[in-house]
Amino acid sequence: MKKLSALLLLSLATYNIHAQSFIQAYQNRAEQVTQTNITSLLQEFAGLGVKTTGSTANTNTLNWLKGKYQAFGYSTSQITEDSFTYNGNTTKNLIITKTGTVYPNIYVIICGHYDTVAGAGVSDNGSGTAILLEAARILKDIPTEYSVKFIHFSGEEQGLLGSSHYVNNVVFQNNVRSINLKVVFNIDQVGGQLGNINNTIKCESDQSGQTANNAPSLAFTQQLAVCTTLYSPLQTSMSNTYASDYIPFENKGDIITGFYEYERSFNEHTVNDTFANVDPTYVYNVGKASVGALQHFAVASTTILATDENQGNQLESVKIYPNPAKNILNIDLPDHIKNFNVEITDMSGKLVLKSENETKINVSNLLNGVYICSLKSENKKIINKILIEK
Ligand SMILES: [Zn+2]
Repeated sequence: MKKLSALLLLSLATYNIHAQSFIQAYQNRAEQVTQTNITSLLQEFAGLGVKTTGSTANTNTLNWLKGKYQAFGYSTSQITEDSFTYNGNTTKNLIITKTGTVYPNIYVIICGHYDTVAGAGVSDNGSGTAILLEAARILKDIPTEYSVKFIHFSGEEQGLLGSSHYVNNVVFQNNVRSINLKVVFNIDQVGGQLGNINNTIKCESDQSGQTANNAPSLAFTQQLAVCTTLYSPLQTSMSNTYASDYIPFENKGDIITGFYEYERSFNEHTVNDTFANVDPTYVYNVGKASVGALQHFAVASTTILATDENQGNQLESVKIYPNPAKNILNIDLPDHIKNFNVEITDMSGKLVLKSENETKINVSNLLNGVYICSLKSENKKIINKILIEK
């Protein structure tokens, strides 16, 4: 959705950074979002085609999502579906539930739609989809005081059909509330446009519709902005919620908040919403902010629970620049990495350049365009998207 332009920017005057302090365990988990995973998920999402509600590609995407959660180790009982029909075809919302330790009957929802129109929808909303998957992978065995539902909605593009169905048939049954929510955190179109300076994210609060939930929405959105600053390199811009899957919740009085790209791509709902146009680094950074914020909302354990919470993929700190590049691509590595190789492939998967242990790679022979740069060292690998621009 998202057809209107943003209406107003809210004042940051009530911003209260002292209410939340930095938590090392939250940071460590936010750092477990990997660029490689995000890039691969966006590529896979692109490969699933145009996911029009009720289409075969739409069903294939739902099954792809289910497979991911099964691979993360979520049990059958944690994975549920909410079906509805559109134009005579069945389509489904996918809901993954993780039970809280202190408030098992109060839920934090993190959600984003997976249906698309016109194009593969890699930004709208493969970006939010990839982030939900990374958050669910990282937090699977991390205790949270509140229960968490990861929800992938369908039918968003036809007018919030999936989220409306879920609110009116699952959250409410016969107009009686059956699920209590702490906050609904929606992520929609956070892919940016490759080549733009994507260093800011819109933090959306509800300032319309039902009024009783507006002040708490603003408070949660301020917390979302603080988490973004604490756990990601992004800057924040306060904005307002509109035309996405949080709205049916808001209409029932629930507290909502959300992320939306700051510098708009305007690729949404067109054939240009492709993997080539999206900025995977932006999605990666929004992912870190999201994992930080979700832990804060759900009150995740602040204890570092496992040794792997301390060590991410060390290659993730490798810097490959400039991007866009002209003639030379620089590789900045941690000192102890001596042996590595770099492969650059074009968007059709054809290998166009290979180098070993070179920190300045001559790319002057490459034509303008988008490439995938993968760097390997021992058994670790990172994948980055690069742009060549002469
Ligand atoms: Zn969308």
